[in-house]
Amino acid sequence: MISKEQNRITRLSRSVVGRTEAEAVSRVLLEDGYLGMGREVEAFENELQAFLGCPGRQVICVNSGTAALHLAVQAVTAPGDEVLVQSLTFLASFQAITAAGCVPVACEVVPGTITLDLEDAQKRLTPRTKAVMPVHYASNPGDLDGVYDFAHRHGLRVIEDAAHAFGCTYRGRKIGTFGDLVCFSFDGIKNITSGEGGAVVTGDGEAAQIIRDARLLGVQKDTEKRYAGQRSWEFEVNHQGYRYHLSNVLAAIGRVQLQRFPQEFAPRRVALAGLYRRLLSGVAGLQLLEADLDEIVPHIQPVLVLGGRRDELRTFLGGLGIETGIHYRPNHLLGLFGGGRVSLPVTERLYGELLSLPLHPALTEAEVSRICGQVSGFLGEGCKA
Ligand SMILES: *Cc1c(COP(=O)(O)O)cnc(C)c1O
Repeated sequence: MISKEQNRITRLSRSVVGRTEAEAVSRVLLEDGYLGMGREVEAFENELQAFLGCPGRQVICVNSGTAALHLAVQAVTAPGDEVLVQSLTFLASFQAITAAGCVPVACEVVPGTITLDLEDAQKRLTPRTKAVMPVHYASNPGDLDGVYDFAHRHGLRVIEDAAHAFGCTYRGRKIGTFGDLVCFSFDGIKNITSGEGGAVVTGDGEAAQIIRDARLLGVQKDTEKRYAGQRSWEFEVNHQGYRYHLSNVLAAIGRVQLQRFPQEFAPRRVALAGLYRRLLSGVAGLQLLEADLDEIVPHIQPVLVLGGRRDELRTFLGGLGIETGIHYRPNHLLGLFGGGRVSLPVTERLYGELLSLPLHPALTEAEVSRICGQVSGFLGEGCKA
């Protein structure tokens, strides 16, 4: 039961799923009855490829964005290799790197976009650096051309953490249709969801085959058999693998979400982010990140709250039933990744200023107006005092 009290909460994020997703799941449960990885997953992969519009690229679905990153890193590195990655990202980016036996090397970000600072990354190169993982923070790919130039100059593989960037373009080209290995997440609150899920998109056929096998315990060509409705009883295994395959049940949700994305989810997210930008630009004590809404479909709506007032504002909004978030706690501060042994001053400053405001396709313009009114009122008051 939803009480009136809960009703008034403006949520930071939420899944937007309904009858169509429910019907798709029922179809798998009641008509097909095969819940593992089969034809529904194959169809989702084909539809993702059609959406991207790039037949030369392979799409491999897995059961989370983290699994996509893990398998992508594992496919193109060896244990002990170093991977350059911005510290200011979701924990999953770092855990995926260590899961593959590699060492995440925490880098600074460019403050305007919170994407990888290539000058800083350059200083952290060693003979063991084998890959770089740019994170498309708040759906902005940042200087992606710069990342690929940097990678080519130093012979590095690129694993894009595009978990925020499904459906975005970079200089007019869809994320995923170019580049080395591009990883998406379809978890509950991302631009599209399959409940849980993710995908690796790549043009590297060899890496694609390793990833395709590794999602099914490393059994060679198991995907091909399953998509033909068969099972592998006699098989060969040469690589470490996992149970990372996507289920038909979840793929059915993802297929509906993909259908809804261009007409429904993308324009809603863009419109709401545009309204935030209009209403918050020029508010003293607050800074917006760079975002070209002709290219990106924002997954989150972070702003920088200056003057040490972030936590105060967060508490104030919380009291009004407006949920906010902090994306993210920098990974270099976590015990597993050095516990702050290296210092990243830009990242640490941003960590104290970042505040994510509510953003999801079911949010209304009225709610965004109310949030912005409260934010600018609160910060304006502080200025006068
Ligand atoms: C969501 C997310 C992931 C991981 O995706 P899951 O599907 O939740 O495992 C990785 N990186 C970033 C930046 C994310 O936001």
